[in-house]
Amino acid sequence: MPKKTEFQNFGRNLDLKPRHFYTPENEVEVLEIMERHSDKVIRCVGRLHSWNNILDCQQVILDLRKLREVRTGTDDAGNFAEVGAGCQIKQLITELGTSRQWTLPSLGFITEQTIAGAVSTGTHGSGKHSLSHYVRSVRLAVYDPNSGRPVITELNSGDELRAARCSLGSLGIILSVKIEVRGQYKVEEQFRQYKEIEDVLSAEQEFPLQQFYLVPWKWTFFAQQRRETAGKSSRVAWLYHQYRYWVFDVLMHVLLLALTRAPAADACTRMALKRVIPAFVIQNWKVVSDSSTQLVMEHELFRHIELELFVQRSKLADAIAYLTQVLTKLGCNATTGQTGNAKDDAPSGPTTAFDHLQGKYCHHYPICIRRILCDDTLISMACRNDNASNPQEPWYSITLTNLHRGKNREPFLEMMPILTTELSTRFGARTHWGKLFGMSGAQINVLYPQLQKFLTIRQRLDPSEHFLNDWLRECFNNHGNLPEPTRLPPA
Ligand SMILES: Cc1cc2nc3c(=O)[nH]c(=O)nc-3n(C[C@H](O)[C@H](O)[C@H](O)COP(=O)(O)OP(=O)(O)OC[C@H]3O[C@@H](n4cnc5c(N)ncnc54)[C@H](O)[C@@H]3O)c2cc1C
Repeated sequence: MPKKTEFQNFGRNLDLKPRHFYTPENEVEVLEIMERHSDKVIRCVGRLHSWNNILDCQQVILDLRKLREVRTGTDDAGNFAEVGAGCQIKQLITELGTSRQWTLPSLGFITEQTIAGAVSTGTHGSGKHSLSHYVRSVRLAVYDPNSGRPVITELNSGDELRAARCSLGSLGIILSVKIEVRGQYKVEEQFRQYKEIEDVLSAEQEFPLQQFYLVPWKWTFFAQQRRETAGKSSRVAWLYHQYRYWVFDVLMHVLLLALTRAPAADACTRMALKRVIPAFVIQNWKVVSDSSTQLVMEHELFRHIELELFVQRSKLADAIAYLTQVLTKLGCNATTGQTGNAKDDAPSGPTTAFDHLQGKYCHHYPICIRRILCDDTLISMACRNDNASNPQEPWYSITLTNLHRGKNREPFLEMMPILTTELSTRFGARTHWGKLFGMSGAQINVLYPQLQKFLTIRQRLDPSEHFLNDWLRECFNNHGNLPEPTRLPPA
């Protein structure tokens, strides 16, 4: 039965009011709905964990949460799982673990997403490819270009598969995904602090799964060093996870959230990040535990919004130095120049696009940096970059999290498109397809050399544009001028 409904995404920065909303029971019902609405735009949602208008659709929205069956097997290419589109990652991991002692090759911060939602936006963790890369085939409901009737097709090889691995919901309705899986494994983890980014990056050889945090206002790095190990789980693993949960997932968030509302909020936030939070990091405590517990956090406990930018390894150090300069400048009181930061090297000089934000935005959350190996896809954020001297170079994602609520989000939202433009023009940065998004079609066209290949396949599968919303139309429209970088001095 169609339901008229209104709902919001996780970040509560987007309202969805489709005319028709369905949660079909099976594939046949999906086709029936498509038949009924063959003159409408149809989009799917997973668990609404995206932060931008990729989710938007005013006509027909389908939620495939009832298509969540998991089937496992082994073929010539290895172990695989065939997963219903609406299955959440957490259900998939549990079923793989209990039935076969298998798991996914890569995991992000959380496991709330559906498999279709996660691969549609190139969701990733650290040290491996994004989940999209491991997809072996996609079962898709589309309209037959000749008859106009809904049909099911399977994309399982060549550029069609590369397109389907990360397609932003624009090829058709994903019914199920066949994905590579592997045996369960253990991960050893410890925290260590570094002053220089070069030292953090060299530690990657020893800890290929590591992710690290640039702590604003202290401007040092805390690496969460991780590597796969054949060792047994530590006896104190439960204690370590309680520590991580209470200190970082809960108390750090409560503190930062409270400080964003406190009088003299900026000074208190800077003090907390410089002195208090780092004091709670226990360094060199090595703990071994299952990958599915060790790699995941409870990042969804506190409502927030996020911007995530991806640069290739050769650009990372410069991009981080530049970001540090910008955030220092924005957090700096315009009249006194006071940042409360010993290493005050905020750029000065000619007026810049950031100037009117100076003193209005004090970044209040550790900036997470993760490595993603180059994906074999056409448009995931970590796909090859034919414009670079080494197209296969790994990508590093830089995540800026914001805990503000309501109107207080405005400075962050104002900074977001400027920062996106600056980092994309200076360092070739791409934006996460599922997070706050400030890039134009012209920029996307330059940053994704395989975009036209993707669009040709998209056009073949959906010539009547049933699965495009306005946001995607803008992303895929490469007319318009490329923005110029502002005159902020280079880092
Ligand atoms: C707290 C939090 C933590 C996060 N952590 C990470 C992280 O560690 N790494 C990372 O890379 N990202 C992360 N994200 C982003 C998140 O993984 C992506 O936005 C993901 O797409 C959300 O999945 P979802 O199931 O909620 O899909 P939705 O957000 O509901 O949908 C995302 C896209 O998938 C499409 N889609 C969904 N189902 C179908 C279908 N059946 N057929 C066709 N298209 C479909 C939608 O149309 C839309 O385009 C995080 C987000 C949050 C809120």
